[in-house]
Amino acid sequence: MTAGPNGTVRLPSLEPPPGVKLRVGWEVGAMFWRAHTPADVPGRCGRCLLTWPCWSVRWADDFLNSTLLPDRPVDPSTHITEPIPRP
Ligand SMILES: [Zn+2]
Repeated sequence: MTAGPNGTVRLPSLEPPPGVKLRVGWEVGAMFWRAHTPADVPGRCGRCLLTWPCWSVRWADDFLNSTLLPDRPVDPSTHITEPIPRP
């Protein structure tokens, strides 16, 4: 998501792509990512001045990618199958 053609930076779209179930999560992650674009100083983040991609961009990348993952299967061992006795 960070590398574009010819070394350019591809910003994540503010509009969630199809398949994103947590739309607001994508929107927040994309805004966070866009706040940490490269600075005029080569190789530095324009926000935190760390080496780009900074930790914030890396975290936002992982977060955005996680919103594209399918739902995890339910673990049946964590579910109560018997009715809870009531007094
Ligand atoms: Zn940064």
